[in-house]
Amino acid sequence: MKGRTTYTMIKPDAVSAGNSGAIIKMIEEAGFNIVAIKKTRLNQEVAGKFYAVHRGRPFYQDLCNYMSSGPIVAMILTKDNAVDDFRTLIGATNPSDAAAGTIRQLFATSIEANAIHGSDSDENALIEAGFFFSELERY
Ligand code: ADP
Ligand code: MG
Repeated sequence: MKGRTTYTMIKPDAVSAGNSGAIIKMIEEAGFNIVAIKKTRLNQEVAGKFYAVHRGRPFYQDLCNYMSSGPIVAMILTKDNAVDDFRTLIGATNPSDAAAGTIRQLFATSIEANAIHGSDSDENALIEAGFFFSELERY
């Protein structure tokens, strides 16, 4: 059965552009419940671990620099079919491929600075939430 939990973060480009509120409103209007929320900042080490799956890709170092360049808004969200429904709400990785009305189509400025993260599996949602929230905060 598909899980009810996903992890997201509003990325530094969208936070610094003042789009956090508009993005959170879209998330709530799409039926997601925010069970935990925190404005924080990644350092290089945390960014590197969070995106470890991309180590070795040409964009990895730039991605770690960008993700630690300013504050992010971390959230744990719940909804039926959370992971897939949230990926639909945010749209494709490259904003030029993102469907109309998706968060990335509306707010992303490039394939790197693409406004928002969304977990890609139930398993990764719990692992990623664990980077930012204690077990007590998660439930
Ligand atoms: P998604 O965030 O849609 O799951 P990926 O997991 O493939 O996408 O990549 C993680 C993040 O790395 C992307 O959200 C984006 O910020 C960055 N990224 C991915 N592909 C590229 C690329 N070709 N060039 C620059 N940055 C990229
Ligand atoms: Mg991904």
